[in-house]
Amino acid sequence: MADRHDTIPFLDLTGVNGALRDEYDLAWKAVLGHGRFIGGPEVERFEEEFAEYCGASTCVGVGNGTDALELILAGLGIGPGDEVIVPGNTFIATAEAVVAVGARPRFVDVLPDTLLLDPTAVEAAVNAATAAVMAVHLYGQMADVAALGSITDRLGLALIEDAAQAHGARFDGRRAGSVGVAAGFSFYPGKNLGALGDGGAITTSDPDLATRIRRTADHGRSASSRYHHDLRGRNSRLDTLQAALLSAKLSSLDVANAARRRAMSTYRSLLPLECRPVDVHPSAEAVHHLAVVQVPDRAVATSALDAAGVGWGVHYPVPCHHQPAFTEYSAELPVVEDVSEKIVSLPMSSTLTDPQVERVCDSLRGLHW
Ligand SMILES: *Cc1c(COP(=O)(O)O)cnc(C)c1O
Repeated sequence: MADRHDTIPFLDLTGVNGALRDEYDLAWKAVLGHGRFIGGPEVERFEEEFAEYCGASTCVGVGNGTDALELILAGLGIGPGDEVIVPGNTFIATAEAVVAVGARPRFVDVLPDTLLLDPTAVEAAVNAATAAVMAVHLYGQMADVAALGSITDRLGLALIEDAAQAHGARFDGRRAGSVGVAAGFSFYPGKNLGALGDGGAITTSDPDLATRIRRTADHGRSASSRYHHDLRGRNSRLDTLQAALLSAKLSSLDVANAARRRAMSTYRSLLPLECRPVDVHPSAEAVHHLAVVQVPDRAVATSALDAAGVGWGVHYPVPCHHQPAFTEYSAELPVVEDVSEKIVSLPMSSTLTDPQVERVCDSLRGLHW
């Protein structure tokens, strides 16, 4: 039994993975037994299972989530001279992928309630150079893909999903990874579906795009011959061991996401009024990768959390368009700039218990904001 005064970790990776120890043991022993460490039956199996889970026809395992986004952009022929619309509130990798293919990220503002891409701002940012829109499903909630999809369809732009934080999330009943022309997923250990190391995947229902991406990510190998390269490729593959571990974890992803939803609803009912959780759109079913709340004074909140032994984070303290690495893509994004000062991420894991959530909420009550 946990002591009342134990600290509450921001993310309980030991607990989450400890629960799967027996399945993991079987998985790594099977890989060690057959001796194929790149490709092989475990990768194929995971790709099939994950495509089916997402409601897409194909999944291609790759090295990490950033590569997944970059390979999608390259696979669509997006490059120098093109602009890609990206929300200012996202992890830097979304924009890195755009820059990596030689295109320009065009940062736009987010909605004040969900903190996700604002469709009106997207439409206003479209110009002759715009090639694609990156719908980032941040914090575990899908962006408004109904509104975004109607804009991209009408204007002939590609809708790409950055689903790195949204394994299993839905919008209008459709899963992340099944809505855009393609979606990039990350299996970084802290994600809802996390490996024990780096990993990523692309889901798409466009078979030609899938083939192009698969070959590019495997040195541009020709379909028929291992040492003939008719595409200029690179190396970005999901390795066999990670694929085996991910298959073991995927079977309990829905249960884990339900536990996150339960913890989030406990937060919603117990948090003091000054701490406002990010809203969920009525058409969205979120998987709460992060429990983000807006507070009147972040320093007050974080010192109270520290004093109570509660882990916390900020996602993200410096918006992409203010990062020193991206000064040439600066923009004015009032909502992103305002909320980046007020957001704090509270503990969230599939192992988080109601008594732990109560303790977090208690630590935030009665503060002098
Ligand atoms: C984690 C993350 C990525 C990048 O994934 P990696 O596997 O770490 O490369 C991209 N976009 C978002 C929104 C993420 O959270």
